[in-house]
Amino acid sequence: MLGKMMDQQLLISSLIDHAARCHGRTEIVSVETSGEVEVTNWSEVHCNARRLASALTGLGLPPETRCGTIAWNNRRHLEIYFGTSGAGFICHTLNPRLHPDQMVYIANDAEDRVMFFDRTFLPAVAQLKDRFTTVEHYVLLGPRDAEAAAMLDGLQFYDELIAQGDADFIWPELDERQPSSLCYTSGTTGNPKGVLYTHRSTLLHSLAGNHPDGLAISARDTVMPVVPMFHVNAWGVPYTAAAAGAKLVLPGPGLDGESLVGLIDGHEVTAAFGVPTIWMGLLAALEKTGSKVPSLTRTIVGGAPMPPSMYTAFRDKYDVELIQAWGMTETSPVATVNQTLSQHAKLPQDAQTAIRVGQGRALFGAEIRLVDENGNTLPQDGKTQGDLQVRGPWVVHTYFGKEQHALTEDGWFDTGDVATIDPDGFMVIRDRSKDIIKSGGEWISTVELENIAIGHPAIANAAAIAAKHEKWDERPILVAVKSDDVGETDLLNFYDGKVASWQVPDRVIFVDELPLGATGKVVKLKLREAYADILLEGTT
Ligand code: ADP
Repeated sequence: MLGKMMDQQLLISSLIDHAARCHGRTEIVSVETSGEVEVTNWSEVHCNARRLASALTGLGLPPETRCGTIAWNNRRHLEIYFGTSGAGFICHTLNPRLHPDQMVYIANDAEDRVMFFDRTFLPAVAQLKDRFTTVEHYVLLGPRDAEAAAMLDGLQFYDELIAQGDADFIWPELDERQPSSLCYTSGTTGNPKGVLYTHRSTLLHSLAGNHPDGLAISARDTVMPVVPMFHVNAWGVPYTAAAAGAKLVLPGPGLDGESLVGLIDGHEVTAAFGVPTIWMGLLAALEKTGSKVPSLTRTIVGGAPMPPSMYTAFRDKYDVELIQAWGMTETSPVATVNQTLSQHAKLPQDAQTAIRVGQGRALFGAEIRLVDENGNTLPQDGKTQGDLQVRGPWVVHTYFGKEQHALTEDGWFDTGDVATIDPDGFMVIRDRSKDIIKSGGEWISTVELENIAIGHPAIANAAAIAAKHEKWDERPILVAVKSDDVGETDLLNFYDGKVASWQVPDRVIFVDELPLGATGKVVKLKLREAYADILLEGTT
């Protein structure tokens, strides 16, 4: 033998062991469903995770049992992340904002045998109980509660369950390719599909994602994942924070701007994670409360395009850097992060902003490319637009329970996004392929039209969609929510000089609110159903 290196499996249990060993006293702040704030630490979370692992093992559940969760971001949920996966079970987070029929579909498809849930969701769970065909153990996240027990037969209580477990439980030595957690896509078209992550994919995603040009979380950070733990594992933040030994602030159910300002200021949050709609709410709350969030240095924004006006507002008024990241359930989710290069430092501010509002460069380990409709690779020139494909060790291969893999013939995953990539590797999402507008044979990016509208001071939110058109096939129309008084003509004039005249929307429809899906993104399908025919009447 020439020599040999240690061959340790990459396991989720090693993350929490490390956090307890080296950062045991680092605090975890958790807002409970009651609104009460609880402060614990990595050492306590570690003990409880092992107690849970021991108690679940004691129930006689076989390896790879799916344990469902319907819960906010709080410390018990964090313990479940580590306790279930660490013991060889699968942590399956369900999104409570989904339609009940979808929740039932997902729980049954996953064959969940345990269902952990927050008090908030007790009425919903009690109602769906008869339709969850595989669940044997219902566990309320909290202490014994007589009122709750009366609502659901056989209900167990998390605090009692873990009290029976052993805090010295020894994690099993699993194979790193064993599944550790399961998330479903939100299924805006067709039934949701499950993506089954492994210990290895989760660790590689966390470790490769957390270098200085990635998420850059350190032991000196206080990190607040506003992105829910039921949405692609809160973008991996619980795992990354454990590896880094960061302090965590788990915001619980109150995700409105004012609650978030209170948490940021009260616990000196340095880095926060969430979708653009969350930061729009935060901006409004900052204006109202007058807080300057002095501790906050950066927020990681992803899940939907970040409007440039939001980037500049945070930078100029609050000295907070918005770092855009891109990914999807199928990519664990982080695949690109927008951190600049030294060559950008001397550019004028506008040019720097133009770079910062893109989706950034691929992490080492996540390769991206563009292809045309025949699968030919396209140049990375910053101009050529194509279908974005991705591959890497934390990208889906085969959806949960499916026979057929989800990849192209040459092994890439087609994201359904349309993008450009420049010679330095900076990627810009132009649209989702099902949203992009094709007018008279030319493409119009809905993202660009929305960013301009949202940049108007009297517009709170906007969505551009394709409306059918007799001459041009499709024309853009804008569905917008006002924050102040503005008329259709004024808003359309605002596009002058910002896009070519043929790209300016034909109509603006003002609404009170946009339909948001379970992950806080605008559901354009609903808008198309309502307004796609609006230009047909009267068109000759
Ligand atoms: P879904 O939106 O279908 O529920 P995901 O939550 O997995 O699924 O979202 C993945 C999609 O979200 C991506 O394919 C992309 O269209 C969009 N997305 C994610 N991050 C960004 C971003 N930073 N900018 C633009 N779009 C994004």
